Amino acid sequence: MIAGLLALALAATPAPPAGKKVYISADMEGIAGVVTSEQLGPAGFEYARFREFMTDEVRAAIEAAREGGAGEIVVSDSHGNGQNLLIEKLPADVTIVRSWPRPLMMMEGIDASFAGAIFIGYHSSTTNPQGVRAHTISSATLADVRLNGVSMPEAGINAAIAGHFGVPVIMISGDDAIAAEAGRLLGGIETAVVKWAISFHSARTRTPEAARQVIHERVLAAMRRLGEFKPYRVTAPVELEVRFKNYRPAELLAYLDSVKRTDAHSIRFVGKDMLEVSRFLEFVTNYNSSLEP
Ligand SMILES: [Zn+2]
Repeated sequence: MIAGLLALALAATPAPPAGKKVYISADMEGIAGVVTSEQLGPAGFEYARFREFMTDEVRAAIEAAREGGAGEIVVSDSHGNGQNLLIEKLPADVTIVRSWPRPLMMMEGIDASFAGAIFIGYHSSTTNPQGVRAHTISSATLADVRLNGVSMPEAGINAAIAGHFGVPVIMISGDDAIAAEAGRLLGGIETAVVKWAISFHSARTRTPEAARQVIHERVLAAMRRLGEFKPYRVTAPVELEVRFKNYRPAELLAYLDSVKRTDAHSIRFVGKDMLEVSRFLEFVTNYNSSLEP
């Protein structure tokens, strides 16, 4: 009886179609129309609507990936509280990674079985003078994140995590600043520009409908040349340098033998690979001793 119910429950879960596994990491600053905190978190007057637009852009990517031959798809909700996507609006045969912390941050759930990674709603790095809401991991606390001496946008850090597993990034959407930055760093990936940055808090944007169309086009184009993309691999051991906006994180982290303070605001950590670097970054940006429960 119990075995029968279990079999029924398993049968009721739609199996993904056969095909290449695709990973989708979704952020929010690079969604069409997003320009300020009013769209980016529960306190903003437009957040409820923009969660829908974010979900719609992810769904456009899922549908195009499927059209291009994707099978299993894992989506990570990788903005803010990690609970932005309206999961009931996504197809029944995808799974969604939610909330924090996660050892692989915005790439949790990826492994060597995936054929490609797609970044939706991405934004430029904190060291880029251009781009809507340009920041790296935390706009409040970090002023630079470097891997082996190169300042990285989140797209670069996440591409290096995917690259650890031999998985290439095939497509990115966001404003024109991250499209250019990711293009320079990753080379030859498909890009969907959904808005053009005017300043940190202003852009000329496509409509949500037009954004979905360009995302659909670029994801489909990427799927059609899936075999051409190369994984982005950083040389191991990986030297991570983090510059904090404040003084005390660098001071305290330097108590650890594995961390070297390189100036008043900066530390260096060497990880044996990107997985160790990812866990260290997630620790540094999430830990405080008053965590509960
Ligand atoms: Zn982000």
